[in-house]
Amino acid sequence: MINTVLGPISENDLGLTLMHEHIVVDITGAEKSLEKSYTVKEVVDYVLPFLIDAKNKGCQTIVEATPLGLGRDLDVLVECSKRSGLNIITCTGAWDGADVKGLSVPQDIQEMTIVEVTDVWTKEFEEGIGDTGIKPGFIKLALGDEGVIFPLQEKLLRAAARTSNKTGMIIACHIWESSSLPLAIKIIEDENLPYDRFIWVHADGQMDMEKILEYGKKGIWLEFDTIGAAEDFIKFPPAIKKLHEENLISQLLFGQDSGSFWIKEGDEDWPMRPYARFFNEFIPYCVKEGISEELIYSVITENSKRVLT
Ligand SMILES: [Zn+2]
Repeated sequence: MINTVLGPISENDLGLTLMHEHIVVDITGAEKSLEKSYTVKEVVDYVLPFLIDAKNKGCQTIVEATPLGLGRDLDVLVECSKRSGLNIITCTGAWDGADVKGLSVPQDIQEMTIVEVTDVWTKEFEEGIGDTGIKPGFIKLALGDEGVIFPLQEKLLRAAARTSNKTGMIIACHIWESSSLPLAIKIIEDENLPYDRFIWVHADGQMDMEKILEYGKKGIWLEFDTIGAAEDFIKFPPAIKKLHEENLISQLLFGQDSGSFWIKEGDEDWPMRPYARFFNEFIPYCVKEGISEELIYSVITENSKRVLT
């Protein structure tokens, strides 16, 4: 069974599953994000046509990769799931990617010890988030984007590893700067986390094939998920073919980092990245470049199912 925002479902009901999408993303900071400067209706009116479009293309499940502090909003996710018919999986965890120095990590989490953070995240899995009864399906983290892992980030990673060891939830960890990956892996080794409980989110960010192969062979999951924002898909087919050659396709995951209803400072307009792009553009492009549709579909069904359950 896997937790969705509408309750647990059988792993056989996951179907085509995109591993990394967003609905609301609030980058104004953790404390402000809790104030919610929008209504559920506003968000749903904006994103629903895009969700329905993906559903019509065969997508059945969206892994919503926005933790508390970055805009996780269960009322929105429940409404989107009910109205679109998509399964939506939410997360526990914390986001400290880019160069935000803790901005998106709630103050109380920043002040807690590793043990206390582990307890908070484990409780969300065991008892539900707040009084909603909704349970997370995975742990989302973001760290290491400056080539180092800061003390706050190390604390979050250790807490995530301990939470994963207690609950079985997978860790999806955004690491854009590939030189940070070995630092993160050392920490999870120290916490005795099995390699196959760790997803390298944005493994395709720099497409550092040396690291991708080295750490793929250790057993970590490799997520190609910059597809939603990519100007073109040139870098993907050679990388996918290489993984195929090296027998690592079974550890590949796909997502788009698509969405979102953005909450940010300033009035620059950030366009919505449509959730159906994967089906409308990415699959046809890969097929044209000699990758079988069957391979892509096995990644978004079989691999997604294995990593989540
Ligand atoms: Zn993301």
